[in-house]
Amino acid sequence: MNHSSILLLGSIALDTIETSHGKHEHLLGGSATYAALALSKFLKPKIVGIVGSDFSKGNLKILEDSCDNLQDLQIREGSTFRWGGKYSESGDERETLFTDLGVFENFTPHLSSFNKNPDYIFLANISPDLQLNVLSQCENKPFVILDTMNLWIDIAKNDLLYVIKKSDILLINESELMQLSEKRNFAEAASDVLKWGPRTLIVKYGSKGAVCYSNEKSFSIGVIQDLVVKDPTGAGDSFGGGLVSALAEGLSMEQAMIRGTAMASFCIENFGINAILNAEKSEIETRCSYLLNTIKYKV
Ligand code: AMP
Repeated sequence: MNHSSILLLGSIALDTIETSHGKHEHLLGGSATYAALALSKFLKPKIVGIVGSDFSKGNLKILEDSCDNLQDLQIREGSTFRWGGKYSESGDERETLFTDLGVFENFTPHLSSFNKNPDYIFLANISPDLQLNVLSQCENKPFVILDTMNLWIDIAKNDLLYVIKKSDILLINESELMQLSEKRNFAEAASDVLKWGPRTLIVKYGSKGAVCYSNEKSFSIGVIQDLVVKDPTGAGDSFGGGLVSALAEGLSMEQAMIRGTAMASFCIENFGINAILNAEKSEIETRCSYLLNTIKYKV
């Protein structure tokens, strides 16, 4: 058994979410939280992030149970990052209602010596300057998986292109890929990105699955059918966490895509982290077996 170490950077948030299934406030969320929970079903990541003095002991315990250590989790006087989102009736579109940076505004990540030599680093969605900062503190050359969002393409594209250059895998959704590449079709956009640095591009298509694209091989994966989607928040981050856990275990890219999709399928079944927190290993395996049959090599 391979015991690779994983360093995870991302947001830790208190979310307010509105979907056709209801509205919930102060839910534990954030890209790092979802990714950590998905990862922790297989391997516990080292986490780097920040929360405010309003972060409850219960939420801290959830992170403590999911992570290898919380040495680089800063707790500072002030408010935890807060984000509000509202989904369309179908759940396919999302509007950001508010983003309150709170303690994130003055966040300077600091890696302790214990966490500076990860085999894998998952730079989950957060500003590219923080991603670069943490990457530059690593003393070795970890395998880099990068996730991002449209906001950073809008306001920090140059920094983002610089992190992309340093990444091995870029995770992105379809509209973000087109926005980033400024191309009109997928093939041109994907081949551009592969020239910028990453050897693998993973494009997330939400309820339609995902595509893994590289010069060696490309394939698509479907989704678990007929799930009731209560809250899509964190699906991408859970996908990333599942994917990274499989890669760190030395599994194939196909197995990694399967695991990512399975973890995302749990995430969307309930508000916040609830469904992913309660996902049983046996049920994860059942979903992975199903997803194996949805892989297609003609993209
Ligand atoms: P996803 O649904 O995978 O895009 O991720 C949703 C999570 O991203 C939520 O829990 C939010 O707290 C978090 N989030 C929203 N906006 C940002 C941002 N600008 N930077 C970092 N995390 C964010």
